[in-house]
Amino acid sequence: MIDFFDHASPDANLQGNKGTNLVVMTGLRMPVPPGFIIPIDVFREFQQKGQLPLAEIEAALRSLAEKTGKVFGKDPSASSEQALYVSVRSSAPVSMPGMMDTVLNLKDRAEIMAAIERIFSSWNNARAIEYRRLNNISPELGTAAVVQAMVFGNRNERSGTGVVFSRNPTTGEPGLFGEYLGQAQGEDIVSGQRTPSPVKLLQQEMPVIYAELEAKAQALERHFREMQDIEFTVEDGRLFILQTRSGKRSGQAAIRIAVDLAKEGMISREEAILRVRPDDLKAVLYKRIDHPEKYTPAARGLNAAPGAAFGRVVFHPLDAVAYAKKNERVILVRIETSPDDIQGINAADGILTSRGGLTSHAAIVTRAMGKPCVCGCEALKIDLKKELFEVNGRVIKKGEVITVDGTTGAVYLQALPLVEAEVTREFSEVLSWADEFREMGVWANADTPEMVAQALKFGAEGVGLCRTERQFNTPERLILIREFIMAEDARARTEAIKNLEKLQKEDFAAIFAAMKGKPVIVRLLDLPLHEFLPREEETTDPKVRQKIRDLEEVNPMLGHRGVRVGISYPEIYCMQIDSIAEARELTGANVGIMIPQVITVQELVTVKQYCRSLNIRFGVMIETVRACMRAGKLAQEADFFSFGTNDLTQATFSFSREDAEKKFLTTYLEKGILQDNPFEVVDVKGVGRLMQTAIEWGRKEKPDLNVGVCGEHAGEPRSIRFFHDIGVTYLSVSAFKIPVARLVAAQVEMEQRGK
Ligand code: PEP
Ligand code: MG
Repeated sequence: MIDFFDHASPDANLQGNKGTNLVVMTGLRMPVPPGFIIPIDVFREFQQKGQLPLAEIEAALRSLAEKTGKVFGKDPSASSEQALYVSVRSSAPVSMPGMMDTVLNLKDRAEIMAAIERIFSSWNNARAIEYRRLNNISPELGTAAVVQAMVFGNRNERSGTGVVFSRNPTTGEPGLFGEYLGQAQGEDIVSGQRTPSPVKLLQQEMPVIYAELEAKAQALERHFREMQDIEFTVEDGRLFILQTRSGKRSGQAAIRIAVDLAKEGMISREEAILRVRPDDLKAVLYKRIDHPEKYTPAARGLNAAPGAAFGRVVFHPLDAVAYAKKNERVILVRIETSPDDIQGINAADGILTSRGGLTSHAAIVTRAMGKPCVCGCEALKIDLKKELFEVNGRVIKKGEVITVDGTTGAVYLQALPLVEAEVTREFSEVLSWADEFREMGVWANADTPEMVAQALKFGAEGVGLCRTERQFNTPERLILIREFIMAEDARARTEAIKNLEKLQKEDFAAIFAAMKGKPVIVRLLDLPLHEFLPREEETTDPKVRQKIRDLEEVNPMLGHRGVRVGISYPEIYCMQIDSIAEARELTGANVGIMIPQVITVQELVTVKQYCRSLNIRFGVMIETVRACMRAGKLAQEADFFSFGTNDLTQATFSFSREDAEKKFLTTYLEKGILQDNPFEVVDVKGVGRLMQTAIEWGRKEKPDLNVGVCGEHAGEPRSIRFFHDIGVTYLSVSAFKIPVARLVAAQVEMEQRGK
């Protein structure tokens, strides 16, 4: 049962992780201090009977003493160098760092036996139980105990101890990286009592040992095909390796190491792709706070758009523009934002709002721009007139500096050091490898030439959703669309819309040209018209006030929006279709038109009649429950489908995202009534079933029907896996989510093939 490192064959289920690695390292002829493993079945017996196999352990201790040529037990004649000291450590099949006990410097039988009992009993200490619960580790697994001869890094001046990584865990650069402390034991470093130096010091002090360590680290890396985190000790000029495991690393390092290992032939390209996690890509894509754990946030809001920024606080969009002109960093703080604020949002480095959820105007606009945003930070009491806000008793006035972290939702009342986003060569390389494996297309949600340029940089194969309402979001254009809305009759509307037509044509032409022949799907106007009007309290014009009241709706999300507006006011959709067609003529682009909020094929037929026999592809957004149920009929008329999973989720659950996230979703998640926020991870059992049915019925009519997803779920890894399984053809996501979509679409393909 009890096996010495040099006799056992590796078996993690019996020996646990640490034990198996010691067996493997001994097999590789690494200089591992000798020892033996008391396996997990002994632990089980101990749990049942409360007894250890004493005779067997004693015999093992005697052989260990023989192997080392030292004396174990109280032998008054043995000098300290002749005495055998042993350590006893836990070794579970799943690593549980620091949760169980370790006992060092044991020199007689009784101490040992007690230490083994202590290690076995520590499997059930409160810390370990809680760790297992949090990490879903079964209490049945149990632990082995490793008994090992100790070596002493504090023996003399030719001794020391340290920890090295086989590659830099922050950057991924090849070569030994780590720390070393002369005349010390590991505990001296762990306890923080002494500060180690870079491992280069060892190279100066003991170059031969350093070279040996370097060679061993490389050999271990080659064996495990993974970057290693290695503990070592030098005792009287002799190197010992105490432990090795795969090392924790930053996102940037994870990407570089995966790519380098593939290039060095240690792993395949497929393995490299599978080893990169979506979070690794995200960590590289956004600016972030350097060591955020050092700082305490003053407040937290919703993490609406990732990235971190600091800057001077302003409360009005034009101030943001003015500060930006002076090259000052600026954070625009608003109660909530509206289309009128767009210039200020554009000029600001980050946005902070006290109201609004993850689909508020601020959240949607900043996410698309790739600009950090914290929204719905309710602890903020904003006084726009006095240009200040108060939070937890502190008052911050215009011009003072704060930091917002849109990745976590944290707000800090000072400037914090930031780490720049850096898209590395390895980042692009691993994604281009991923492209060779994936079948789903990855397109972009992009509304402006700037967004298109960004999307192309990240590898978009097309634009799957160009939301046209955003193009009205500048002050000059708001004036024009308002003229249209205020027009008394159809003739006046047609007149008013001419001014917009010219601008729309320019918008589309610029986007089409930027895409250089790659396909673009333009979605016709979706917003309710009242969204383009000021708030009633913001205007004194009685006609405008009357119009605002006329257009008021009880439930705007379920009201006069999408294709319904296009049917009530054909001038708008006709204008948009004409501008698209003319821009296509100018640029020779590959264009499709998509209609939002469709519930019946008659809507599609009606809109198609607007366009004088244009040869253009028409698709429908599938974002109402009825559209899913009528998918077969819709497929007869539509050239493609694109699931708007944001609206489809709201429609399926019958709750609006804003209200759900603000009012009850947290409680639902805490109580386990829902497992995930359905606006983040697609709800497979409800929304997913509707999607699956719609695809099935659609393809019955049109077997080669292209089906996209352009809601936010298209950039979420678990949802991407589901979309793949139900036969989605392409994903369309905002520019910064493109890398994750490319990676996960390839990973899911490889996982399926491997099954
Ligand atoms: C959707 O509903 O998922 C969608 C993409 O459209 P929007 O978010 O513009 O409503
Ligand atoms: Mg929608």
